[in-house]
Amino acid sequence: MLMTGKEYIESLRKLNTRVYMFGERVDNWVDHPIIRPSINSVAATYDLAQEDEYKDIMTAKSNITGKIVNRFTHLHQSTEDLKNKVKMQRLLGQKTASCFQRCVGMDAFNAVYSTTFEVDEKYGTSYHKNFIEYLKHVQENDLTVDGAMTDPKGDRGLAPHAQKDPDLYLRIVERREDGIVVRGAKAHQTGSINSHEHIIMPTIAMGEADKDYAVSFACESDVEGLYMIYGRQSCDTRKMEKDNDIDVGNKKFGGQEALVVFDNVFIPNNRIFLCGEYDFAGMMVERFAGYHRQSYGGCKVGVGDVIIGAAALAAEYNGADKASHIKDKLIEMTHLNETLFSCGIACSAEGCPTKAGNYQIDLLLANVCKQNVTRFPYEIGRLAEDIAGGLMVTMPSESDFKSDTIVGSNGETLGDICNKYFAGSDKASTEERQRILRFLENVCLGTAAVGYRTESMHGAGSPQAQRIMISRQGNIQGKKEMAKELAGIKK
Ligand code: SF4
Ligand code: FE
Repeated sequence: MLMTGKEYIESLRKLNTRVYMFGERVDNWVDHPIIRPSINSVAATYDLAQEDEYKDIMTAKSNITGKIVNRFTHLHQSTEDLKNKVKMQRLLGQKTASCFQRCVGMDAFNAVYSTTFEVDEKYGTSYHKNFIEYLKHVQENDLTVDGAMTDPKGDRGLAPHAQKDPDLYLRIVERREDGIVVRGAKAHQTGSINSHEHIIMPTIAMGEADKDYAVSFACESDVEGLYMIYGRQSCDTRKMEKDNDIDVGNKKFGGQEALVVFDNVFIPNNRIFLCGEYDFAGMMVERFAGYHRQSYGGCKVGVGDVIIGAAALAAEYNGADKASHIKDKLIEMTHLNETLFSCGIACSAEGCPTKAGNYQIDLLLANVCKQNVTRFPYEIGRLAEDIAGGLMVTMPSESDFKSDTIVGSNGETLGDICNKYFAGSDKASTEERQRILRFLENVCLGTAAVGYRTESMHGAGSPQAQRIMISRQGNIQGKKEMAKELAGIKK
């Protein structure tokens, strides 16, 4: 059953998820002005799947049930599926200009599905069967699931078991007949509050001493012992201002990250996908990270499309659109953005089946994709700020533009004065100019900057993580052989 966006939002109300923000528990978090835009972004993944125009990229036929499911719950069956995934993410980036959060679950499904197959093959466990049953439940109920990988990590120089505080990596604290008890946390979890459930995965490759940390499982968001602390974003309290509209920038949509705490949470056996098989922690991490690095070649490109459009409008409203350097900057932004998309498509087109049968991206190209994402959005943002001009960050508030307070000697109001001095070309009203500049401010520096800039840097792994993978996959030895052959070097 495919849910509508509205049904999704209503389904969240049925959960008893424990959420904290600004030092207090938030009871009605679904309608909280800071949280709601991020819920709207996830809702868009449901609404677009209902539209005929987008059915091909937003939905797919499940290999498990044979039914049509939202692509966010699908196991990729071909390189076509992998490419459609990236196109779907670009579309959603264009429609929301933010992080729509549901990809982490999709990337976790695909990584856990293939890894559990190989764990079972080696150890005779039944994690793959557990996972298939779990995914059926997800697909049939069209759930949003937070794919959670990143542990708080404490002292980065120490392995999980060697940390002074053993909770700094999530671990098994008790093994029972009917399941396990886990303790720890997952940090900066995208969309965790807006998810019905969570799939937990280890965060790094592990050795035998880290056995208790090599754990993967699923649990509901409101399971006993679980709570979340909302991650605040730059300029987030603008969303709390009375009658806010223009100053928020992107009023309807937003992203979300939170700290998810597991305070002795019980996980039943049928929801466990890895439990001590430490030699498979690295595989799960590598696969999830690979998929999520591919994802960024879609979502950030969609947001980039909107930024390019906004920059072009800002130029028009400033009366600067005919200047050749502005045109050239828009070309440069487009070039960078399409380069990112090319990487997303390339790692998908070069994908191949896993042993379990679902498709995996080309890992080298996915890492190159994400490495570019750690750079190009910054340059695109720099050019957008260049085109927008300083007013983007010096403009008076929306309330000033709307104020009736008399300030001028001829009875002019504050609003009159703001509208007089911040007028641009005749192509747009002062309010339209205000709107596009606030939008750019939001993406470059405000709440949306989390998703477009810093998330581009650190999401799906910081730049160094990709460089390690690039060095592993880059085959320098093979390249040396090619050079030797052609240069006539025998040994
Ligand atoms: Fe999806 Fe992009 Fe957000 Fe990751 S950062 S969850 S890929 S929208
Ligand atoms: Fe992300």
